[in-house]
Amino acid sequence: MSKLSNAALRERDLAHVWHPCTQMKDHEGEMPLIPVRRAAGAWLEDHDGRRYLDAISSWWVNLFGHANPRINAAIAAQLQQLPHVMFAGFTHEPATRLAERLVALAPPGLERCFFADSGSAAIEVAVKMSYHYWQNRGAARKTRFVTLSNSYHGETLGALAVGSVELYKAIYRPLLMDVITVPSPDAYAGEPGESAADCARRRFAELEQVLAEGASEIAAVIVEPLVQCAGAMRMYDPLYLRLLREACDRHGVHLIADEIAVGFGRTGTMFACEQAGIRPDFLCLAKGLTGGYLPMSVVLTTDEVYDAFYDEYAKLNAFLHSHSYAGNPLACAAALATLDLFAQGDVLNRNRALASRLAEAAAPLAAHPNVAEVRQRGMILAVEFVRDRATRETFPWQERRHLRIHRHALSRGVLLRPLGNVVYFMPPYVVSPEEIDLMARVALEGLDLAVRD
Ligand SMILES: *Cc1c(COP(=O)(O)O)cnc(C)c1O
Repeated sequence: MSKLSNAALRERDLAHVWHPCTQMKDHEGEMPLIPVRRAAGAWLEDHDGRRYLDAISSWWVNLFGHANPRINAAIAAQLQQLPHVMFAGFTHEPATRLAERLVALAPPGLERCFFADSGSAAIEVAVKMSYHYWQNRGAARKTRFVTLSNSYHGETLGALAVGSVELYKAIYRPLLMDVITVPSPDAYAGEPGESAADCARRRFAELEQVLAEGASEIAAVIVEPLVQCAGAMRMYDPLYLRLLREACDRHGVHLIADEIAVGFGRTGTMFACEQAGIRPDFLCLAKGLTGGYLPMSVVLTTDEVYDAFYDEYAKLNAFLHSHSYAGNPLACAAALATLDLFAQGDVLNRNRALASRLAEAAAPLAAHPNVAEVRQRGMILAVEFVRDRATRETFPWQERRHLRIHRHALSRGVLLRPLGNVVYFMPPYVVSPEEIDLMARVALEGLDLAVRD
């Protein structure tokens, strides 16, 4: 194969490809596409041989590094055996074993796994299943969903409808089902001097009101446990989840936990729900599920939900949802190898040390005059930068100052992709302490550039 330069590949790409979440015109200016030739561990390498530390796990999917030998070998072995087979009427050992292992790992009581192929698709499944459950149980009026402000659940129309990041949602509003939005317990948006737990309690009271008045029409409440990742890494107290679980039980409403981003150890526990000691009715997982290798998602639910669909065919109450690649064996093999890495590596303990290092490395960021808050939950650390620390006034979004951080970091060999005014680190778990120091140093330099006039 001929050797391709960055420039040559960029030109070919821009002739025919349309990239996700991108104003393509940006790539004609100061933000050139980065053609990646290969990757290993926490590092990406472009076609000109430049390397970039992947501080955001390639959009939060990668857990154990790129080209992890263990996951590579598992996929290669599965490839020889069975790359794919339809999953209606057929099954295979990788999917069966993955379901067994996920059930064993998840909060007790989640006994059933429904496989899909993206995070958004998992949200669609959970939303449809919850609604359909109530239909099958004779509660025909329970058709509505409650969501938190600043939440993100994906891009397909159902997932977009139950999310509330306006940037992604506003233009499509006429196409979306109507949902009930309650204020997020986001502690950064709390009142001055209010603790995260007090903020959670106050915000929960508003949700309680909505449930008390509307439960007869509400199918489910959907939340991202502990961290609203796409919503600029805003974090909240686990107390909110505990109160929410009790309220859902009291009012006969499902709880859907979207752990697509926060699952698999990101927040310090295997699943974020564990920190509140709760079990949702639906647990949606994707992203890290396959270690960041292959598109796969899964919805875990209870036997109680499953039983509402289990009947004679002629009752016509089965869940007839499907995706062509549901249960793909290669993805299952990647997921099983990922779970092996967790089981054998004492990963959560090792991550505790890395998380402390992350906190230490971010101390100079916290002291910066343009930083309003540094917040952390396990392996997610976020830095909120502002024009004025006292008032928390932000820079006008049109100035896109975060792009200066992105560009500077790339020039220093680190991939950072700030969300508006929030620079964050969400590295793969194979990151070294020295690499953590590097990403924090580069972020600090970038921040200095970003806030300059
Ligand atoms: C990424 C994400 C999704 C959507 O997953 P896709 O695989 O991109 O469709 C849904 N919910 C949350 C919390 C996410 O972070």
